[in-house]
Amino acid sequence: MQSMFFNIYTYVAVSWTDYAQTYDEYVSRLKSLGLELREVGRSIRDRPIYAAYASSGPAVFITAGQHGNEHPGPELMLHFLRDLKTCNFLVKESALCRVRYVVVPVVNPDGFDAWQRTNANHVDPNRNWPAGWGGPGSMPGSCCPICRGSSPLDQPETRAVYSLLSSESYAVHIDLHSGTEVLAWPPGCAQLGASRFAELYRKLAQRHVEIASKYGITPYDYGNIIEKYADVPPELLAMKIYEACGAVDDTVDYKLNKPSFVLEISSPYNPPYSALTSYYYPRLQAVLASLAEYAYSTQPPATIPTILPILAGTVSAFSSALYTALRAESF
Ligand SMILES: [Zn+2]
Repeated sequence: MQSMFFNIYTYVAVSWTDYAQTYDEYVSRLKSLGLELREVGRSIRDRPIYAAYASSGPAVFITAGQHGNEHPGPELMLHFLRDLKTCNFLVKESALCRVRYVVVPVVNPDGFDAWQRTNANHVDPNRNWPAGWGGPGSMPGSCCPICRGSSPLDQPETRAVYSLLSSESYAVHIDLHSGTEVLAWPPGCAQLGASRFAELYRKLAQRHVEIASKYGITPYDYGNIIEKYADVPPELLAMKIYEACGAVDDTVDYKLNKPSFVLEISSPYNPPYSALTSYYYPRLQAVLASLAEYAYSTQPPATIPTILPILAGTVSAFSSALYTALRAESF
């Protein structure tokens, strides 16, 4: 009954049956969700880069759409942010709705609009980040699929998002891609050495498997790319995932001191939309549920002094607390 009540009064009936073909179309879908949106920067072709803010509590920071030819991440963020409004997920883990999300759904709007991997300067945004910049898995300059630019963060898109990643408060970050299917973590660049979060990464990846199994969802294969493929001869690698220096997850981990994952959502770069929503979306939910649990666990327990003002507060404050409690229980 509780979820019915909130479905009636807060559910925004928006749905999509195919990929947004242009960035304008994507932005109009994003705006239709009625979320708090902030423009955090502009692309080379002067398109706005947005951050969406949803829910409350300790945060999970999500970036997607660095590679403009990989639309599953941006599209599934629309579905995720829509369903967050009513907590209407196939994965019914309460942590999913108890944390805040800071989402930059399309880091590279010009690439998104052109369905091309790189930005309008033909630089790969995900080789332009500072940690490990210039190392293996990238090429100098511009005009190639893995070109890293002339210096770290010399592209407006990465500069804008780096500034947000540096200033926001969050417990864990994840960057969404497609082209293969794996949940991976730093280092993606061997010269950076072992991550201080190595144990946490493994634990959260294992937790996503447990959650997936509970709902009959296929979990992602997982591992650190450097370790995982250390013994695989290069000629046997599908060239889809490999050492890649200058990627965002390494920068979040080694420069900003926060745990950061990479999720490669789907093996086809852009699977049919029905497969995206019916097969890949639940898998993404299992991953995000694990991260949300972790984020939630980093919150200090509520103390009496923080609860009292709510109890003694206005009717609207009480309603807000009640709403949060009911929503949490609607699972
Ligand atoms: Zn990618």
